[in-house]
Amino acid sequence: MKNTFFLILAFVTFIGCKQETPTNVVKGEEKSEKINDFAIVIHGGAGTILKKNMSDEKEKAYQNKLTEAIKIGHSILKNGGTSQEAVIKTIQVMEESPLFNAGKGAVFTHEETNELDASFMDGNTLNAGAVAGVTNVKSPIELAVKVMTDSDHVMLSGKGASIFAKEKGLEMVDPSYFYTEKRFQSLQRIKNRNKAQLDHNDKKAAFYDADIKNAKFGTVGCVALDKNGNIAAGTSTGGMTNKRWGRIGDAPIIGSGTYANNKTCGVSSTGWGEYFIRSQVAYDISAQMEYQQKSLKEATKDVIQHKLTKLGGTGGVVALDKSGNMSFEFNTAGMYRASMNAKGDLVVKIYKE
Ligand code: ASP
Repeated sequence: MKNTFFLILAFVTFIGCKQETPTNVVKGEEKSEKINDFAIVIHGGAGTILKKNMSDEKEKAYQNKLTEAIKIGHSILKNGGTSQEAVIKTIQVMEESPLFNAGKGAVFTHEETNELDASFMDGNTLNAGAVAGVTNVKSPIELAVKVMTDSDHVMLSGKGASIFAKEKGLEMVDPSYFYTEKRFQSLQRIKNRNKAQLDHNDKKAAFYDADIKNAKFGTVGCVALDKNGNIAAGTSTGGMTNKRWGRIGDAPIIGSGTYANNKTCGVSSTGWGEYFIRSQVAYDISAQMEYQQKSLKEATKDVIQHKLTKLGGTGGVVALDKSGNMSFEFNTAGMYRASMNAKGDLVVKIYKE
């Protein structure tokens, strides 16, 4: 009798042990099947992007540039390159295009200057680098990566960031390099509207809100998973038109605009930065996967469609998990976006389905 009791006890203990998840493994990890050995997703900003306001020519131009950018990153990954290299090279194509609010197409500040922000995170080491308020460095994403690899810091800003860039031999440009007529005129329109409103009645704040709600956020971002299972994410932006007082948005904030962790996922955000900072959007997605065992789809949906929306924020994210699952979640009319999987299938989209 006594022996039978001990036998049952030993059996129950054995079953109990077997079911316990090892502490170093994210629950649900075993479930997730690798669907892509490598993959890449990008965005070129979200916002009030409507088919009815878009010419065929403009639509084609965006599709072509997104395709050109993602193909560069994809070929790096296909040839065994790192996710870090894929993210830098892909973002640089978009930084050099006046179509997006990053690098060459950056929006203007209230003082009619261009102040650029960018960040990068390596999901393998959890190392990260970021820059804010940079005015004369051609590729802010390259500088963000340099901050990560060549300094003891995570974030540098303004003049100091420029000095660091020069010391590291990065390509410097005259601030006029970032001038584009289209962005300059956007600033003038906002300023004139604000002035007219102020002259009439002091409702400046309300107008500022309306401008942002109808805004097109043209930030660029990329998340890549390489053949070694390493995830990297990066984001680059000019911020928001008419920003002032050295305003810094979410794009250079690790955890808001960018996050990557090989255990969970990589995320790049675009949208109304203040809300993305308050919601810690990118980290929250990773945390929900790590602590609540949510899938990438469930986590991105909850953070964007429920939490961010409830707060009043607008925008979206592109994300990739460690198994190569992809997510494109946004609460605006559209988001410029593209993806390529290990097989080389290319998908480019602009509007909501
Ligand atoms: N998130 C950026 C910012 O607030 C803007 C954008 O996504 O275009 O600076």
